[in-house]
Amino acid sequence: ARAADGLDGAAPPPDVDLGTPSIARLYDYVLGGKEHFEVDRRAADALYEAVPETSQLAKDNRNHLRRAVQWLVREAGIRQIVDLGSGLPTVGNVHELAQAVDPGVHVVYVDNDPLVLAHGRALLSDETTTTVITADVREPETIFADPRTAELIDLQQPYAVIAASILHHLDDDVAYDVAARIRAQLHSGCYVLISNFLDDDEPRAKELERAFLEGGLGTGRFRTWAEQRRFYDGLEMVEPGLVYANDWKPDHLTPTESRVHTLYAAGVARKP
Ligand code: SAM
Repeated sequence: ARAADGLDGAAPPPDVDLGTPSIARLYDYVLGGKEHFEVDRRAADALYEAVPETSQLAKDNRNHLRRAVQWLVREAGIRQIVDLGSGLPTVGNVHELAQAVDPGVHVVYVDNDPLVLAHGRALLSDETTTTVITADVREPETIFADPRTAELIDLQQPYAVIAASILHHLDDDVAYDVAARIRAQLHSGCYVLISNFLDDDEPRAKELERAFLEGGLGTGRFRTWAEQRRFYDGLEMVEPGLVYANDWKPDHLTPTESRVHTLYAAGVARKP
């Protein structure tokens, strides 16, 4: 691996593994960012080979995330957000979108990739409203009990949990369990935002899943509608429900001709 690529010549933090592809860096690569290494690009090649429009999947997801965050802050009145598996900083970060509506929104970013922490810290000049912590989303209780979360999030007040493009990187048993444990944390009036690769019974979903699982990354589950509905068990779906990501309250910036429209599902739900 070229040790310095993506970091403007700076050495990567010592805990960054250049020999294994990272989800955060691969995702940054397909989004057109610059925080990736040879090993990530090679894993991405396997995806492009299976579905040449793979980068549009990431864009459709980011576009849904933008609309849903804007909706949560503008329409649902949410002022506190915990973003699980938040990823590397990109164009239109959650805190920027939310704080453009109300500068007082508090955001806690959570990721287990060391590069996310390094770059997140650099990006956040004002840690009074936003912070980034390193933790494992497979232990949601630990995240909610973390004093750094408590500094910014008053768990007695309404908040939203974002699990965008993260549950599909967890094994089936783990993903349903994590979703249930997140739901158990929420009190009435809290929201979750979930987006996930979709198996809508078309061959491309299976081919891309194989490329994710066997092409180096090792994770990336395409789940059916029925499987994804389980994530929202006991919650009230916000209109229009669990839908193709681009069909969730589309606006003038939403892709209308995405060729991967049927490969991504998303929803927002409220704890009654
Ligand atoms: N949420 C962002 C979005 O939707 O645009 C980024 C999604 S990115 C595909 C998935 C992120 O989850 C990566 O940054 C990765 O490092 C992180 N991640 C994967 N497994 C994780 C885990 N067990 N705990 C915390 N973060 C994890």
